[in-house]
Amino acid sequence: MNFDMSIKNNLNTIKSALPNHVTLVAVSKTKPVSAIIEAYEAGQRVFGENKVQEMAQKQEQLPKDIEWHMIGHLQSNKVKYMASFVSLIHGVDSFKLLKEINKQALKHNRVIDCLLQLKIASEDSKFGMTYKNAKALITSEDLLDLKNINIVGVMGMATFTDNEAQIKQEFTNLKTHFDALKLSTSFNCNLSHISMGMSGDYKSAIDCGSTMIRVGSSIFGARNYTI
Ligand SMILES: *Cc1c(COP(=O)(O)O)cnc(C)c1O
Repeated sequence: MNFDMSIKNNLNTIKSALPNHVTLVAVSKTKPVSAIIEAYEAGQRVFGENKVQEMAQKQEQLPKDIEWHMIGHLQSNKVKYMASFVSLIHGVDSFKLLKEINKQALKHNRVIDCLLQLKIASEDSKFGMTYKNAKALITSEDLLDLKNINIVGVMGMATFTDNEAQIKQEFTNLKTHFDALKLSTSFNCNLSHISMGMSGDYKSAIDCGSTMIRVGSSIFGARNYTI
């Protein structure tokens, strides 16, 4: 099969089955700029990366109407490399990180949209805040000082397992947390997005209330981490 055609076909297959309220983030991490261009030419405008430097390099080379989403675990000292262009940061898991995002956004005179990452998986390796900490963060007085960030929703990753019932339970938990957190609003906290679902589980995620899915391998093929 022609490689270029398959990216387009994969995208079209996924998009044709998506409800209108669900945004597809095409996860292009480890993939070359040429693969992103193929997806772009097929109409895709939202791309997700998990490494700041890799995203910044790709952003420089690619059309400026692309929306870049940072989906990976983020270190505070890397925020400055993407603050001028990033459209949404999915993995915010501390007030310290939010403060740094605010500081860098201010330097560029912009407001950066963020999602709070909640831990829903049973594995130790998945990052994220507890519901309790997320609630404390969005109801804190300190949040009101951050005029250059906007918390627009939550993000979560289910356990890596074949147990579909467990995955659905974890997604349902995130939706329940989202509904509860949504009751707290302020000028910089307006929860409307739930980022959950990847190649293997996005259909379940949508059934459980996802509004944003992050799909990589089902669009671009398996990743090769050895190169
Ligand atoms: C890599 C990655 C994805 C995409 O994974 P696929 O299984 O290739 O669809 C989604 N979310 C995050 C946070 C990722 O790191």
